[in-house]
Formats: sequence, structure tokens, C-alpha cells
Amino acid sequence: MARYLIVGGVAGGASAAARLRRLDETAQIILIERGDYISYANCGLPYFVGRVIPNRDDLLVQTERGLETRFCLDVRPLHKALAIDRQRKVVWVQEVATGREYEQPYDKLILAPGAAPIIPNVPGVTLRGVFTVRNIPDVDAIQAWIERTESTRAVVVGGGFIGLEMAENLRHRGLEVTVVEMLPQVMPPLDADMAWHVAEHLRAGGLHLALGDGVAGFEAADGALRVRTQSGASHVGDLVILAIGVRPETALAKAAGLDLGPRGGIRVDERMRTSDPAIFAVGDADFQQRIAYDLYYIDNWSMMFDLRILLLTIFSKKAYRNAY
Ligand SMILES: Cc1cc2nc3c(=O)[nH]c(=O)nc-3n(C[C@H](O)[C@H](O)[C@H](O)COP(=O)(O)OP(=O)(O)OC[C@H]3O[C@@H](n4cnc5c(N)ncnc54)[C@H](O)[C@@H]3O)c2cc1C
Repeated sequence: MARYLIVGGVAGGASAAARLRRLDETAQIILIERGDYISYANCGLPYFVGRVIPNRDDLLVQTERGLETRFCLDVRPLHKALAIDRQRKVVWVQEVATGREYEQPYDKLILAPGAAPIIPNVPGVTLRGVFTVRNIPDVDAIQAWIERTESTRAVVVGGGFIGLEMAENLRHRGLEVTVVEMLPQVMPPLDADMAWHVAEHLRAGGLHLALGDGVAGFEAADGALRVRTQSGASHVGDLVILAIGVRPETALAKAAGLDLGPRGGIRVDERMRTSDPAIFAVGDADFQQRIAYDLYYIDNWSMMFDLRILLLTIFSKKAYRNAY
């Protein structure tokens, strides 16, 4: 009986586990996730803040119990992978609640640890009221802050996808929102003429845009937060959302000596294999030399395709060829 170990239990990891089960009814499939929640809708997080998704449970695509009973998976939330011993094919795992550590053997290991929000190295970034948005505890904290401080103003740093989704939703909730973006346009992947239309639409919806001005620091200001920018301007909010990009979580892979790509992601080939034939990677943490992949973080479809390639590679070379 094959033993698959998956690190990371949300988009890439939970999908890999469910699909693996469909391809192999007898395998032992273990899914470890260091956080409380598995298989939730990251894409819905801003809309939960905006109350467009009013019911928090609607964010949960699958529960631990659902995955265990429906797919016969061994799901372990609050378990963190600490290190990989490639020689012995074991992962050191820590039970977060107790600190207990144990070795988990694998035949094949799938890494899906995602990417963490980038935190700028500027003064005041650790002040209370400055948030990032990656997971359910993050949006719980934002909701609680808005309610407790009766927030009416927000500053969103970063005019990319996540920044604009947060801005839109905070506005939808009735807050005055200013978006501070270092580049002269919102939505950096778009051409300037297209981004202009997006900016006009945002302004028509009541958002304030401060473009072409990077953040320089944060200060507490009369019970609120002042965001200082490189031009010397400042914007006041009751909360600040930082959304200036993400960085692949590659500490595990790096420490295990797996090859990394030029942008710091885990290097994989076109079959999602890392530099170790028993280890695969998928999702925000991986990197392939494929031009379209530069768009990977806005396009979950490409991740689902990668996942398909990964699993077909594990199961059959012939099937892999048919995937294209
Ligand atoms: C607010 C927001 C909105 C988004 N909207 C969209 C959208 O509209 N469309 C779209 O395509 N994409 C969107 N994305 C991006 C999308 O969510 C990601 O591309 C996708 O979640 C990546 O999947 P992943 O499995 O690589 O990482 P994740 O889904 O982040 O899962 C990685 C998991 O691994 C866990 N982990 C990390 N290290 C360890 C360890 N050592 N041990 C155990 N567990 C570990 C983490 O705790 C995390 O839960 C959005 C993301 C965010 C944050």
C-alpha cells in the first residue's frame, strides 16, 4: 500500500488529497496542515469581510471530518512539518497544541505550503490595526477589529488583486477607503491604458486612490493609524490592510536541499517533480520555467492543471502524455 504525505491542507493540498483518493482507493493519504482550517475558500475571504458572504461556514469547502469520511483521508490540522529527511523519506512533524514531535514516513511527498504575505520593512508595521489577509484567522481578526473600534476609515496598501478586493469589500461595508499603491497604476499586471479604466471605475465607486507613492511607515494617531508615504503625504485609517504581494513558503524545501527557482519558489519540472524524484510541489510555493506560469497566483485553473499533471505523473507516464 502506497503512503502519500501532503504538507499544506488548503487549495493545492486538499485538492491533491481528494484527487489522489479517486485514483487510488487503497493508498494511505495523510494531509497535514499547521493551521486550524483545511480546504477553505481563500478567494472568498475579502467577501466575508464585506459581508457579501455573510455566513462564515460558507468559506469552508470541506471540513476535516468531511474529508475523512468521504475520502478516507488521514487529516491532521494543527500539525506542522518541521523538516524533511530525504534519505530516510520521513518528515518531522510537530503537533502544534502539545509541542509533541514525531516522524512521519512517506513513499511520495507532495509539498503545497503556499505563499505568505510580504511584510515591508518599515517603521510601525507591527502596530495593532495593521493586518494582512491570507487565512480565516486573519479575516476573523479584521472583523473583530472593525467591530470593536467601530472603524469608519481604512487604508489599503497595495493596488493588486487582493488589495483591490479588500478595498472594494471594505467600501461595500460602508468604510471610507484609500488605496496606496507604489506604481502609477492599479493592477500591475495590466497595461496602463486598461488599468486606467479600472481606476476610474474604482473612483466612481467611492474609493480614494493614492498612486505612484510607496508606503514609508505607520504611526499611531489619536486612536487611529497614520500611513506615511515616500512623497511625504499621509493617510489616516482605523485599520490598515497590507496587500503588497506574497512570497513562496520554501523554508522546508530549502532546508531539505531541494532546488529553488530564480524567484525563490520550489523548482519543479513540467510534471511537477522537484529535484528529488519522491517529492512533488504544487500551488503558490512552486516555480516552473513556463511563461504562462508568471500568472500562477491569479489563476487557480493553472494550479488545478498542474495538480492533474502531478497526479498523472505519480500514477502513469502514459496518462501524463494524454493530459496535454
Ligand atoms: C484574500 C485572497 C484572495 C484570493 N483570491 C483569489 C482568486 O480570486 N482567484 C485565484 O485564482 N486565487 C486567489 N487567491 C490565491 C489562491 O488562494 C492561492 O493561489 C491558493 O490558495 C494557493 O494554494 P496553495 O495550496 O499553494 O496554498 P494555500 O491555499 O495558501 O495553502 C497552503 C497551506 O499550507 C500550510 N502550511 C505551510 N507550511 C506548512 C508546514 N510546514 N506544515 C504544515 N502546513 C503548512 C499553510 O498553513 C496553508 O494553510 C487568493 C488568495 C487570497 C489570500
